[in-house]
Amino acid sequence: MDKNLRKALELDKKDPLKSFKNRFVNSENEIYLDGNSLGKLPKETIELTSDLIQNQWGTRMIRSWNEHWMDLPKTLAKKIAQIVGAQEDEIFVGDSTSLNLYKLVFSILQLQHGKQKIVTDSLNFPTDLYVLQGMVATHFQNHSIAYIPSNDGISISIETLENCIDKETALTTLSAVTYKSAFRYDMAEVNAIAKKNNSFVIWDLSHAAGAMPVDLNKINAELAVGCTYKYLNGGPGAPAFLYVKRELQEKLNNPISSWFAHEKPFDFDPVFKADQGIQKFAIGTPSILSLAAIEPGLDILLEAGIGNLREKSEQQSKFLLHLIMIYLVPLGFKIASPMEVEVRGSHISIQHGEAYRINRAMIAPKIKTKIIIPDFRPPNNIRLGIAPLYNSFQELYETARRIETIILSKEYEQFDGEKLIVT
Ligand SMILES: *Cc1c(COP(=O)(O)O)cnc(C)c1O
Repeated sequence: MDKNLRKALELDKKDPLKSFKNRFVNSENEIYLDGNSLGKLPKETIELTSDLIQNQWGTRMIRSWNEHWMDLPKTLAKKIAQIVGAQEDEIFVGDSTSLNLYKLVFSILQLQHGKQKIVTDSLNFPTDLYVLQGMVATHFQNHSIAYIPSNDGISISIETLENCIDKETALTTLSAVTYKSAFRYDMAEVNAIAKKNNSFVIWDLSHAAGAMPVDLNKINAELAVGCTYKYLNGGPGAPAFLYVKRELQEKLNNPISSWFAHEKPFDFDPVFKADQGIQKFAIGTPSILSLAAIEPGLDILLEAGIGNLREKSEQQSKFLLHLIMIYLVPLGFKIASPMEVEVRGSHISIQHGEAYRINRAMIAPKIKTKIIIPDFRPPNNIRLGIAPLYNSFQELYETARRIETIILSKEYEQFDGEKLIVT
């Protein structure tokens, strides 16, 4: 037996989290390496949502608001708070990540009037950049956005960042783990640099929450947003979350006033009076069906323990990197993620001139072989997402060998380069 396969099997045997895979819906003969884009479906979510629809909505109807639904956002906030190291009254669950970012950017720029510089980095997720660009175009037309450059397209050096954040900086917004390369910031260090300049940081935790310990309170984080459909396994388009440190809440204003953010929504007062806590960030009625579906994924994560997940994720990304060096780098692949595990999230990007067609051959093979699902990010990245709750070391081994075969047999030549809508 190949010694790397033997190693993979040994690591799987010792894996304390191996039983968690069975809590999810799995397909035979498929390897799923896209949990960083859409997490898997927990089996429990199937039962929960069918009860929700048939009984809570179907039978109990409007009565379910008092019986189950009014408390739901708070129940979820409490669980997400544990995952990101916050207090339950510092987390609002609802809306999309983009919308939550919009609320926070708007309220901070309003609070920081007088300072007109917004800092972000060139590796940030497009929606985060679009929110900033739109904000400047519509509400803060004298503001400007500075994009911290990356020397290698993979990481951002702390010196460059330090040069960019100055006394004029109202706000810095960054992804804690960048979506393409998986570069991971030292959040505490960035918060300290911002503080020295009387400035705020909004963290986007979309690629960090559920994949690694995040301790927002401990690292003096003041603001954050994140999504629940990646490592939290909340379901496609599941509502996102927003974090505002308790002391800051009363100083900030949600740019959209609505009844669920009113101090007493069911008084039906014709005059808006904002709730003074985290609830002020609500916009309208919560999306109960999709909110409820988030809970089983959170329960599974909390049961597994975030520390254990990170430990396995580190072991797995190191192992995968080792396999990539042995089997794929000699075939022309470039590693487009940080080499050091401490500055890396839970996925690895590799680059190849034929990345898109290789990706297609993995997902929709024309020969009889295992289907492997990574994703593609332009111009030439294949992202291999590691979700330690359900990925095994053997799957990582098989993935590296499968990509090797696709190159050696030139199997990718049977695919055209025409891009699907979602890649
Ligand atoms: C996935 C992701 C989002 C998603 O934003 P939505 O508005 O929820 O679609 C935002 N930011 C980052 C960094 C992401 O990775």
